[in-house]
Amino acid sequence: MCKVPHTELATTKKDFTTVCCFCNKVLTAHGEWTIPATPLHLDSSDTLSHTFCPDCVKKHYPFAVSEG
Ligand SMILES: [Zn+2]
Repeated sequence: MCKVPHTELATTKKDFTTVCCFCNKVLTAHGEWTIPATPLHLDSSDTLSHTFCPDCVKKHYPFAVSEG
């Protein structure tokens, strides 16, 4: 349903967009997750880094979150 995150590529590129696979929110330069005003061009996967936002990690992968 979503592509494998290009983690290794992402670390070498600064002009990429980090997008959540589940809710399609994007990570802003301020470290905040927000819904983009305009739809992302998913075809341009070169500039997209698919991952999960904190909310979706908790929602879909609760076992991966340490509750302390
Ligand atoms: Zn999300």
